[in-house]
Amino acid sequence: FGPTLCIGEILVEIVANTAGSGFLEPQPLTGPYPSGAPAIFIDQCGRFGGSAAMIGSVGKDDFGRVNTDRLQRDGVDTSAIHVDPALPTGTAFVRYRDDGDRDFVYNMWTSAAGALDWTAEVEAVVARAGHLHIMGTLLVQQRIWQVIERAAGIIKSRGGSVSLDPNLRKELGADADTASRFAAVVSMADLLLPSGPELFVAAGTDASAGENAALASLFAGGAREIVLKRGAAGSTCFTAEGTRIDAPAFAVTELDPTGAGDCFGGAYVAARRLGFDMAQALTYGNAAGARNVTFRGPMEGAGTRAELDAFIAGKGRVA
Ligand code: ATP
Repeated sequence: FGPTLCIGEILVEIVANTAGSGFLEPQPLTGPYPSGAPAIFIDQCGRFGGSAAMIGSVGKDDFGRVNTDRLQRDGVDTSAIHVDPALPTGTAFVRYRDDGDRDFVYNMWTSAAGALDWTAEVEAVVARAGHLHIMGTLLVQQRIWQVIERAAGIIKSRGGSVSLDPNLRKELGADADTASRFAAVVSMADLLLPSGPELFVAAGTDASAGENAALASLFAGGAREIVLKRGAAGSTCFTAEGTRIDAPAFAVTELDPTGAGDCFGGAYVAARRLGFDMAQALTYGNAAGARNVTFRGPMEGAGTRAELDAFIAGKGRVA
């Protein structure tokens, strides 16, 4: 069985208190919040109660502690998080625009977040893992890709499974190497969790050909389960055998959308690995995503199983 493993960037997020465009003038900011899509995912997994482990790198500074303390508190094995003596922890500054879009300033690959190597601690945690969750964001980075590719090969060859959240971010760029790594990961993934146009990017099909053509292409490539995240419209799960399950979203007042998809994924994967069926896992995923957007900060609203059960029973009310 083995823990669910996630590899990648660990950051602190610092959020502008006012909506607007960019960071060209002094403005009030709130943070640091523990963040980084893979860290949010694995924190939600750990909080849900699934066995969880993280591979990543932070600086020897308070921003690193903000993250490792949180992950440990939430039950995540942090033994393979490297503490880099020379580089600071990565940062992401975020400002929301009036239309809901976001501007980011990242210090990612020039920080500890980009300094990831295959160490004895990484080897040990990969040897225990039963499932690897991959974030497409990371594939722009050759050094991290080497760790992901090696871990995925080991876990798959032992009969473990792989999930992929494309999590594409235009600010992080893409090139021909990234595209070929992305295609390699898509072909390894048993479970895909795209949102919006990411389905078509993953499938390599044109959006005008429709959702069914994209799904058929991914199932033909080896995927077993595809979950479409649809924001405030909820989520839908499709299987290679032809099952379709729709799950409505919980009605909530959104305060901060960051991390919804990662919390959804963390709860969905943890629930499936604990033996819940797809319908139950979709409900937990929808609850985790919806609960998280009602909190300010990217992983502040990640819920324990008891908190998500209470949220579901209260039809979207945070107790
Ligand atoms: P991210 O912003 O983290 O990249 P994403 O685009 O991957 O998110 P979304 O579809 O926005 O993923 O959100 C994931 C899930 O969280 C949705 O399927 C839904 O269940 C829940 N969710 C997100 N936003 C809302 C909302 N405003 N109201 C209710 N549920 C929401």
